[in-house]
Amino acid sequence: MSLEVKEKTQVRVVFLGAAGVGKTALIRRFLQDTFEPKHRRTVEELHIKEYDIGGVKVTVEILDTSGSYSFPAMRKLSIQNSDAFALVYAVDDPESLEAVKSLRDEILEIKGDKYTPIVVVGNKVDREEERQVSGEDVLTTVELDWNNSYLEASAKENSNVVEVFKELLQQANLPSRLSPALRRRRETFPKDTNFRPPMNKTNSCLLS
Ligand code: GDP
Ligand code: MG
Repeated sequence: MSLEVKEKTQVRVVFLGAAGVGKTALIRRFLQDTFEPKHRRTVEELHIKEYDIGGVKVTVEILDTSGSYSFPAMRKLSIQNSDAFALVYAVDDPESLEAVKSLRDEILEIKGDKYTPIVVVGNKVDREEERQVSGEDVLTTVELDWNNSYLEASAKENSNVVEVFKELLQQANLPSRLSPALRRRRETFPKDTNFRPPMNKTNSCLLS
């Protein structure tokens, strides 16, 4: 039996979470480096990006979902077909954290006991005044009890957005092809600090 872990050249990440928490905003910030203050309902949208990493073509599919619970079959299908999960809530909305908990249960149920890359994202940290969820409490639950990763981010202020994608892709087995510079940068900013300087890099640098 071989213990070698094959790195994938195609990976699908899905963004799940209650409506209005900023899933579309995070993806848009990552792909286009823009922010849209108005909320438009997403049904389901698949973005496909191709990167050349050391001469290997890597396809990254990013699935944006509605957050609506009226489509359970659709959600089940998107869970089955995805390799890594961003579970997004908003730090000013405790109910959206409850949604993350049930989504995680659903993912574990569908994926069985296989290792599943999950990154929990507390978005809208720019709304510090309105914060209703303690980042420390969530960090403890997610990293110690769940053994998943936790990051706080702001799509509005472009804080930690690249980190979210980096974490997802690394967990989905694309790590060793990341450039040494990126790995160094990652080590410079330990995961359990809330503050990280925004990175003024274009997304194409992420995997190049
Ligand atoms: P989705 O339903 O999860 O896709 O949420 P959207 O991305 O459509 O965002 C919902 C609303 O929250 C929109 O009005 C966004 O402008 C706003 N929003 C998203 N991300 C942030 C953020 O980081 N900070 C703030 N203040 N607002 C945000
Ligand atoms: Mg949306």
